[in-house]
Amino acid sequence: MRSVRCALSSPSFSPLTVSDTHDTATWWERTHGNAESDLLIAYFSMEFAVDAGLPIYSGGLGVLAGDHLKAAADLGIPLVGVGLFYRGGYFTQGLSKEGRQTEEYHGVDPEAAGLVREPVSVDVELAGEKVTAAVWRYDVATAVGTTVPLYLLDVDMLTDALYSGDREHRIRQELLLGVGGVRALSALGLKPTVFHVNEGHSAFLAIERARELVEAGKEPERALEIVRRSTVFTTHTPVPAGNEVFGDDLVLRYVGDLAARAGLAKEDLLALGRAEGVSGFGLTPLALRLSAAANGVSELHGEVAREMWAPLWPGEEPRIGHVTNGVHLGTWLAPELEQLLRTVGVRPEAPPDEGNWDATYELDNEALWGVHAALKERLAALTGFDSKRLTIGFARRFATYKRAGLVFSDLERLLQLPVQIVVAGKAHPQDVEGKDVMQRIVELSRDPAVAGRVVFLENYDLDLARAIIPGCDIWLNTPRRPHEASGTSGMKAAVNGVPNLSVLDGWWAEAYNPEVGWALDGTTDEADAEQLYRVLEQQVVPRFESRDDWVEMMKHSIAQLAPRFSMQRAVIEYVERYYLPATAHVRAV
Ligand SMILES: *Cc1c(COP(=O)(O)O)cnc(C)c1O
Repeated sequence: MRSVRCALSSPSFSPLTVSDTHDTATWWERTHGNAESDLLIAYFSMEFAVDAGLPIYSGGLGVLAGDHLKAAADLGIPLVGVGLFYRGGYFTQGLSKEGRQTEEYHGVDPEAAGLVREPVSVDVELAGEKVTAAVWRYDVATAVGTTVPLYLLDVDMLTDALYSGDREHRIRQELLLGVGGVRALSALGLKPTVFHVNEGHSAFLAIERARELVEAGKEPERALEIVRRSTVFTTHTPVPAGNEVFGDDLVLRYVGDLAARAGLAKEDLLALGRAEGVSGFGLTPLALRLSAAANGVSELHGEVAREMWAPLWPGEEPRIGHVTNGVHLGTWLAPELEQLLRTVGVRPEAPPDEGNWDATYELDNEALWGVHAALKERLAALTGFDSKRLTIGFARRFATYKRAGLVFSDLERLLQLPVQIVVAGKAHPQDVEGKDVMQRIVELSRDPAVAGRVVFLENYDLDLARAIIPGCDIWLNTPRRPHEASGTSGMKAAVNGVPNLSVLDGWWAEAYNPEVGWALDGTTDEADAEQLYRVLEQQVVPRFESRDDWVEMMKHSIAQLAPRFSMQRAVIEYVERYYLPATAHVRAV
């Protein structure tokens, strides 16, 4: 393994996040390292958000994938990421005179973004045409010197931009990721024991792995069984329409030959993507059939996914569990707050059960409020807000199910409250309705009657998220239940002592209790809006006026939720419940 276990004694070692007397061995080395020394996880995703300077993500899915790599690096887990390098990245958002989203694609300079060209290339056949991909490496490095490499494939024209083009362009990109990704790892001399398919986009990797095994002499059925046992699949989409589907003809044209080499006739291939209620070839059914372990991303989403996909296993218990998402604390905890927490003995970089989060309660109220007030000041410099006023944050992709307009549905009632709202987020370039909602909010923010109480910040990305979230007093989320599989921005808020006010959907359905925030039932738009205003008027605003009560809630939010919704906790669950058992199976064959 090249860089996973990069020297703890290397010169890049920084004492910043390692506390004095603690063992410098990583969690992996202390718990599983010796017995499992051949374990290597290959984590495939269409998006990765590792740095704002590498814009190859559109939202939560990419942030989750980036945080997964960072937490794995913290823990010293042998894992590599595999994705695509989009030369045009994801778009930079602007606003027209009319307040409509504009999109610009700026070329990403790979070297400036920190990518290193690997001395290998891989060929992939796309409907009879051979394309050759370059392979780049980005090292996700921690302050203690551990590193997880992210390999990114790149083909001129094909990886022009994220979510560009038509269905055919999309299947070509996804074949490059799945098939090319497997070949790139081989070319690099890496032999993963587990393949983690993060959302269905990369699921074709299973066909490529079966092909390799069949061409090496395995019986086709046996090959599929080996692939299944070493594949972990995470689904993120709780509504049927959100799961990716291709027409049969496109699949046969692009995947038919590869499948034939894996011993799969046309009808066998098509059967792998079939599901009740899905017309065409679904990547989620494909990934579910070719993985031994699958999971949703919150407890509630696990239930929804089991129900949704039950017809795939008639008469059997659906094989879908859940691992609730988390966030990488090293990325999302504001540095000023992190420093303050260290003064009472909290260790945010440690695995959650060793982090001593209960010490949060020992923080001096004035000191905690002082740090928060400074973060509010910094946000006020971006928004022009009154830094004393109660600040509500709402920032995420403008997908219509997230109902960004709900809090503005009775503007008069809202403006009677002593609050101000910061909004940010991109709409998918093809999402006309999402852009409509955004435009109405931008128009509102420009209305003199609103006079600086609603502000829209352009071009939401990792850096803007880090600036906005800790500077708010409460974090609002109003998804249409159960469309929010997890939601992670609320976790970023919670760990910074920003209480959540959210529909009981995704992660909040399991995180909520009255000590850490407020809950909305998630029924109809009208009922949710009414409940939202009532909670703001009768609970949030009065509590904000009582500083000690408010700070108490901030402490509960940090102490209770940071360890539970840390990405290290989630990655440890993946290791112990999925990666290690899958590796044991593979070793057995
Ligand atoms: C965390 C994050 C998201 C995801 O937010 P949700 O609340 O889960 O929708 C999207 N975009 C950026 C830039 C983020 O940092």
